[in-house]
Amino acid sequence: MKWTIAVLPGDGVGPEVTRLAVDVLGSTAKRFNHELKVDFHDIGWSAYENHGDPLPQSTLEGCKSADAVLLGAVGDPRGDKLPPDLRPERGLLALRKELECFANIRPARLLSCLADASPLALETVENTDLVIVRELAGGIYYGEPSGILEDGEVALDTMRYQRNEIVRITRVAFEIAMDRKRKVISVDKANVLSSSRLWRKTVTEIALEYPKVDCSHMFVDRAAMELVMNPQSLDVLLTSNLFGDILSDEAAAVVGSIGLLASASLNENGGGIFEPVHGSAPDIAGSGSANPLAAILSAAMLLRQTYSLEMEARTIEESVEAVLEMGLRTPDLVRGTVGATVGTETIGSAVSHQILQRPAEK
Ligand code: NAD
Repeated sequence: MKWTIAVLPGDGVGPEVTRLAVDVLGSTAKRFNHELKVDFHDIGWSAYENHGDPLPQSTLEGCKSADAVLLGAVGDPRGDKLPPDLRPERGLLALRKELECFANIRPARLLSCLADASPLALETVENTDLVIVRELAGGIYYGEPSGILEDGEVALDTMRYQRNEIVRITRVAFEIAMDRKRKVISVDKANVLSSSRLWRKTVTEIALEYPKVDCSHMFVDRAAMELVMNPQSLDVLLTSNLFGDILSDEAAAVVGSIGLLASASLNENGGGIFEPVHGSAPDIAGSGSANPLAAILSAAMLLRQTYSLEMEARTIEESVEAVLEMGLRTPDLVRGTVGATVGTETIGSAVSHQILQRPAEK
């Protein structure tokens, strides 16, 4: 099979981790006799520098003509001084909108060999295996009006949801739950926000279509607490754009590091953008210490989702687990007294090596 993938490395650690993810795709293609074609495009700060636009037309066209998009991260402190529409983050928001990616799937599972990387006690965190289903195309990140008014004295953002946006993301969450423990918790702030009241009413209605799935509702502040108190009790968390963004960083910390969390941002056709949950990490960019596993695991999600290549995706995931079991750790995976760590290149290459070494499955 031929894979045509648009690769958008982006900013900061984005290019560092994406390069290893592309290497892993190359090794997987070689191992399973596929053909890999990658086209690189700018996004974010690098696109602004090169084209004066955080999402150039050439990037958009490249993404639309590819089977799928693999993205690193966007964001650069120099972008803080730009007008809102030219900021690096706008490039990513516009890309998600253009590709109609409304469903962001963020799995967070504790690997037993990484129990010591979690800040939580083993008995609290062990067996944690949850998925955050985050609405990605609406809510406060896109609502109008927004802006700074009255000579900088007032600023506003609008949290806006319409029923059909809630319906489609709810169905995605329930479909995912059907293949898991059949337990959806919808997270909102319905005690305060009107948009959350519509959210809760709509989720309650759609849940009736899935009588085999247990559906409950939780306020976002309580959900933030449950994530650290009882993460093992959670299965599918369905939530809005803003709440999902925040809760997934918390979930990442619970299972060890944001450097591990992969995601898929999908449209109605199941295609989309595959991207680590983390940002451009300017504090460690250029140090060679960024964890590339989230980007690599995003590449595994890409193969499973875009081409239904379960064996290839699983091989990548098992290879990641194998290198962690061998004891390889980037600095973000080591807590307390610092043990020996390796860099981005070493752990990423070890995954590729594992893929090429694994025996053929019958
Ligand atoms: P961040 O995710 O970039 O970093 C948060 C912390 O996690 C930092 O300490 C960083 O060093 C660490 N970290 C992140 N990725 C890591 C990795 N692969 N390996 C090891 N450690 C890692 O979030 P931030 O600092 O709040 O934001 C930095 C920039 O990234 C901002 O410009 C922000 O807008 C942008 N951002 C982009 C995305 C995206 O592209 N999807 C997501 C979040 C933030």
